[in-house]
Amino acid sequence: MENAAHTPKHCEHCGKTIKGRTDKRFCNDDCRNNFNRKKRKKRALEAPETIAEIIRIIKNNYQILLTNFDLEPDPNAASFMNSKQFQELGLNEKFYTSVLIENGELWKYCFDRGWSAGKTTVWVKRNPNQAEI
Ligand SMILES: [Zn+2]
Repeated sequence: MENAAHTPKHCEHCGKTIKGRTDKRFCNDDCRNNFNRKKRKKRALEAPETIAEIIRIIKNNYQILLTNFDLEPDPNAASFMNSKQFQELGLNEKFYTSVLIENGELWKYCFDRGWSAGKTTVWVKRNPNQAEI
């Protein structure tokens, strides 16, 4: 393991060697402020791309729910699939538009189509209320 005390540290903003305390990351407050400003700006620029990607994922999830489950217009009609098969559909379960807890079960919705994952079965149904604003 390297001994930190003998390794010259460089300012994360300007790259100059830092003198003094080895736990310092910047030469001074200006460098720290400039570094953080730059980081915030970079993040702000990256955000729209991330958001566009999440919207794409939600749309894809919706397509998967629409095309793989034949549901009646009746809001109480549900379809099911075994969990392994459901996973193979490639739905990204991290992203959805709303949630609903019904009889103690968590339902995640992409617009009006929702799924609820049990131990071995995943239920899918349509609920127009979940797509109302
Ligand atoms: Zn500096």
